[in-house]
Amino acid sequence: MTLVDAHIHLPAYGGDAGPLRVALARSMCLISCTVNASEAPAGERSRLEAPRNVRSFVGVHPSDVTRELPSERLAPFLEGCDGIGEIGLDEKYSTTSDGGAQMEAFIDQLRVAERLGKPVQVHSRGSEKRCLEVLGTFNLKKVLMHWFEGEPQLPEVIARGYFVSVGPALLYSKKIRRIARSLTPGSILTESDGPVSYGPLGGANGPNLIPSVLFGLAAIRGETYDDLERRVGENAKAFLSEERLI
Ligand SMILES: [Zn+2]
Repeated sequence: MTLVDAHIHLPAYGGDAGPLRVALARSMCLISCTVNASEAPAGERSRLEAPRNVRSFVGVHPSDVTRELPSERLAPFLEGCDGIGEIGLDEKYSTTSDGGAQMEAFIDQLRVAERLGKPVQVHSRGSEKRCLEVLGTFNLKKVLMHWFEGEPQLPEVIARGYFVSVGPALLYSKKIRRIARSLTPGSILTESDGPVSYGPLGGANGPNLIPSVLFGLAAIRGETYDDLERRVGENAKAFLSEERLI
């Protein structure tokens, strides 16, 4: 069986090989993403260092959008990457209205994903409804809603066959627990969002938290750890359209 960290920012570790060592030691699959184009080479390097354990997504996060279209800055990496992410909308950084830089960047990157048939990782904090509206206008291969908090939109997310990655916030957030309980078996993935650290968990961060997330999920959903680990592995294969993970 394979542990899965479906959303981690390996380039943000700045050359610290800690997460890769964890992945190799624990037979984990890490789906790495970027927040801007300058991180893309580091993501590719991680995949070269541990090709069986690392998948490399590239994308421009809502925090990092500029007027320059992401598809231009990311062009050298688009054919070879495993997917597009982290992309999305978030009012915290700037307006998400039509014609604004965030919306233009999101649409531009979804076009790329559609054209190349690549899976996407979506950041939707506080903009869940808007993200779903935009996503619904594309014919996308696979969609992962990472750290999803849009309870009212959850039935729609599940109906569309999107994946939802649950992270360490599950261990202290009632809202994330409710969402985790409502997910269908075929929609669940696990993530650390490393190097994000979790204050309520004593500042812990990174892929070492994945087994704790699985234990939490198993308890909440009344399933066994092994069944859930197996299921998340199957879902990761489906998300990546791969026959085997490692
Ligand atoms: Zn992230």
